[in-house]
Amino acid sequence: MSVTTAARVDLVAIRRNVELLRESAPGAELMAVVKADGYGHGIIPAARAAVAGGASWLGVATLDEALTLRRAGLDVRVMCWLYAPGERFDDAVAEDVDLSATSVGQVEEITRAAARVGRQVRLHLKTDTGLARSGATPADWPALVDAALRAQAEGLATVVGLWSHMACADEPGHPSIAAQLREFDEAVELAEKAGARPEVRHIANSAATLTLPEARYDLVRPGIAVYGLDPIPSLGPARRLGLRPAMTLTGRLALAKRVGAGQGVSYGHRYTTSAETTLGLVPLGYADGIPRHGTNLLEVWAAGRRRRVAGTVCMDQFVIDVGDDEIRAGDEVILFGPGDRGEPTAQDWAEMLGTISYEIVTRIGARVPRTYA
Ligand code: PLP
Repeated sequence: MSVTTAARVDLVAIRRNVELLRESAPGAELMAVVKADGYGHGIIPAARAAVAGGASWLGVATLDEALTLRRAGLDVRVMCWLYAPGERFDDAVAEDVDLSATSVGQVEEITRAAARVGRQVRLHLKTDTGLARSGATPADWPALVDAALRAQAEGLATVVGLWSHMACADEPGHPSIAAQLREFDEAVELAEKAGARPEVRHIANSAATLTLPEARYDLVRPGIAVYGLDPIPSLGPARRLGLRPAMTLTGRLALAKRVGAGQGVSYGHRYTTSAETTLGLVPLGYADGIPRHGTNLLEVWAAGRRRRVAGTVCMDQFVIDVGDDEIRAGDEVILFGPGDRGEPTAQDWAEMLGTISYEIVTRIGARVPRTYA
């Protein structure tokens, strides 16, 4: 099959990244976060590669993602943390998915599902140590712990985890880091005094895994670093550890043509040729996850060097201006990759666009085939 456009995913890189992350956090187990289709890399291949690299846990946001992992036969611990009332808790309990609980109401709903299914549910109680997203505030934490321990006494649940999530781990020295870790220690102490005996305490995302040994506890939960991208680009801890970006986004020129000087290019004529030149047509657009905001801004690699997008990024395509360089329809264009050949990285794109690399890789659309090596 000739692939004209593809997100090529280097599974060896994912496996190796996990191995390196594990070595860098000795004593902690590793949960590879594979939500959002494995950060755009493909949830099942990414999960398998991470497990091959030593991940003994997989982390996802939604119940559907958790069930997708189970249906594919992944039998390591799977933890899931984001749902609204009325979701498929019975299925999750039946499939032995570890569930986060952030409120008394959630404990009650999940344990009712456990009673229906006839199986104990493995709960991770989430404390909000300062991110102010999900999790029980310090004021609500004792009631959450009590409700979960009651369900445990009734044989419906086991409290296997105490956990939280950090707000500013990617900003070294930010005062919230120490404050959140202090708050987490206090929440753990309170739960343990109340009788909880968790298998795992966990709070560390990629940035904390890489830079905050005191945040690793029993289990680290890296996401972006698994895919070889840096959670703190200005500091480069992922690069220093030798992590390698796993995704290369490529396309093939659909057309190359000469146009004269003064030619307005693409919708709105936001680019005008300054001399007679050759334009190349790249068959990816905002429907594929190339931000329209990248108009006249993004760079790609074509004919041996970086070229800037010329004019408006359209739904399915954009144009590059290569001057008098030789290009032909069918030539490969690398939109971003590990950077080995000089092509931009997802991090470069993030900087050009004023965003983070997470958004670049997760937004690559379903129309772009993923290929694996
Ligand atoms: N843990 C939770 C609860 C998350 O939501 C995420 C991702 O946002 C992660 C861990 C992984 O974060 P990162 O990709 O920054 O390592």
